[in-house]
Amino acid sequence: MKIKFIGAAREVTGSKHLITTDSGKKILLDCGMFQGKGLETDSMNRELGFDPSKIDHLILTHAHIDHSGLIPYMYKLGFRGSIICSNATRDLCAIMLADSAFIQEHDTKTFNKRRTKKGLAPVTPLYSQDDAKECMSLFIGVPYDMKFRIDDNIKVKFTNTGHMLGSGVANITIRENGNAKRIAYTGDIGRPVNRILAPPVPFPQTDYLITESTYGDRLHNDTKESEDALLKVVVETCVNKGGKLIIPSFSVGRTQEIVFSLNKFFNDGRLPKVDIYVDSPLAVNATTVFRLHRECFNQEFLEVLENDKDPFGFNSLYYITRVEDSKRLNDHKAPCVIISASGMAEAGRIKHHLANNISDPKNTILFVGYCAPATLGARILNGEKEVSIHGMVHEVKADIRKIESFSGHGDYEEMIHFLNCQDKGIIEKLFLVHGEYETQKRYSESLTREGFKNIAIPAKGEEYEL
Ligand SMILES: [Zn+2]
Repeated sequence: MKIKFIGAAREVTGSKHLITTDSGKKILLDCGMFQGKGLETDSMNRELGFDPSKIDHLILTHAHIDHSGLIPYMYKLGFRGSIICSNATRDLCAIMLADSAFIQEHDTKTFNKRRTKKGLAPVTPLYSQDDAKECMSLFIGVPYDMKFRIDDNIKVKFTNTGHMLGSGVANITIRENGNAKRIAYTGDIGRPVNRILAPPVPFPQTDYLITESTYGDRLHNDTKESEDALLKVVVETCVNKGGKLIIPSFSVGRTQEIVFSLNKFFNDGRLPKVDIYVDSPLAVNATTVFRLHRECFNQEFLEVLENDKDPFGFNSLYYITRVEDSKRLNDHKAPCVIISASGMAEAGRIKHHLANNISDPKNTILFVGYCAPATLGARILNGEKEVSIHGMVHEVKADIRKIESFSGHGDYEEMIHFLNCQDKGIIEKLFLVHGEYETQKRYSESLTREGFKNIAIPAKGEEYEL
């Protein structure tokens, strides 16, 4: 059989890897959207690099859009195979793909207004909300640690990676020509300590390992430090400076972690009296999905649930779904905290909040996760003095901060620790995906020092025999 690396090859978005067996079965691993590539992004997403109607099965590691976001597009182009993932991933996809479709439709409408003015023909969105809804009928949710038989020759089992609710290593066994080959695709790897999720668990021995490398050359602070840092930024911004704290955050995962930390400060009486707004309809829905999947929680969080029925809610916290209420925050004069999506500030309501608040030195913009190069988030973090948001130039005068360890990705020591469950001598080939190329080269050196061999860093479109 062969594997072709179609996306997230020497970059961090667009995860897509295609296995073709000797008998011609096509199994796609993840079907993520490319993000933050400027004008190129749209055409990169439209040209899949394969015929979706020929794909038999899609095995999905987790629900993040850079891993799942093109599923409705595949569906629109004729894909009718099965999509196998964990139960929580399926539930999250139902809301996240619908949200992504809404963004596609909304952005295309805005874009077409500008095109019409220039006398250009309108374009169609990548996919519609109907596509996002209909593709859900192809999903098969499987519990963690249960071996699922896809057909006579293909089996898969998901083991928790603690990266997001429902994320798992896809442990695949493919039998062909009388031989069984094991392929483990880690998807994204979480941190050993998460405020909510159970830690990554060791996964079964594999022959071929495909693994991420986002933080292949970096180390994070520990979780406790980042919680203290969060409280400090709230106090400095809202109490000492009387400003607003704007937190661009992914609606699923990061937002719940931040809310849970703030909930803890509230319960301990340490949170200053400021209003906190979670301005994201998706975050509200995602919080509901979180409440449904206790199998993904760690022991400590399960214990908190015993005493605090709702660790995602407290008196001064307000969830906002309606656009009118979101707009009303623009006139809000008092200090407050606004948590809004997306985390890289590429899309969504956060762009309005940044446009309204980034030029006031009293305010703070706090980043809590990874920002891919060229995204608005990365440009602000790089210290650009002026940024363009919705076609208007804004001076950056607010304080810009970052707390790295709220990241859902393990650092290189944590990833190596996770991979150490494997017998390195048995692994025939280790493929590094989902990382910037320079980072991947450094990570590859660290892995080699640790005793891993036969490491490849596939370029986009490169194919290997397994
Ligand atoms: Zn992810």
